[in-house]
Amino acid sequence: MTAADLTGAVHLPIVKTLHWPDEAATARFALALAAQPQVRLAYIELQGDLGAGKTTLVRHLLRALGVQGRIKSPTYAVVEPYELHDLNIWHFDFYRFSDPREWIEAGFRDIFASPGLKLAEWPENVAGCVPKADLVVQLGVTEDESRQVTLTAHTAVGAALLSGLGITSEHNAP
Ligand code: ADP
Ligand code: MG
Repeated sequence: MTAADLTGAVHLPIVKTLHWPDEAATARFALALAAQPQVRLAYIELQGDLGAGKTTLVRHLLRALGVQGRIKSPTYAVVEPYELHDLNIWHFDFYRFSDPREWIEAGFRDIFASPGLKLAEWPENVAGCVPKADLVVQLGVTEDESRQVTLTAHTAVGAALLSGLGITSEHNAP
């Protein structure tokens, strides 16, 4: 038992590795994530190469949260907003976002200051602009096409998400 166990304090970041053998496993994770109350105020980054499954995970998550109709990949628009009756969601794809000077003009600073769920693909391209992510989901494709997933919680919100998912700390990164 550590001091953190005794005091209830959380050591951040919390890092955990998962394995998703198929898209159904991705969908199950999205469903469980959508059921967490903290997801409604989270900023979640999705990392991984093209085709890793970032948009697929977001689609399953948005569906689970109640988004209906077509869910487009925001590769060209950079952001797709969704307005549910009790929740605002913004899905960003910064793959083509090359000029951080446009950040404020594009209204992205205001979005990140607003309540709601923010999801970002290719956050590497806006590293100096975005706040610290609550949760980073890193997706890698293995030889058999399954997904190796690393979850990193950087904040109390991220830690609450992981604990709500029943995911306990594997190790704390240095
Ligand atoms: P990205 O947004 O990372 O570029 P996409 O989500 O657009 O990737 O594409 C991922 C592709 O991989 C989709 O065609 C999806 O059906 C497929 N796929 C296969 N297995 C999985 C999995 N376990 N999780 C997510 N996507 C998967
Ligand atoms: Mg994508």
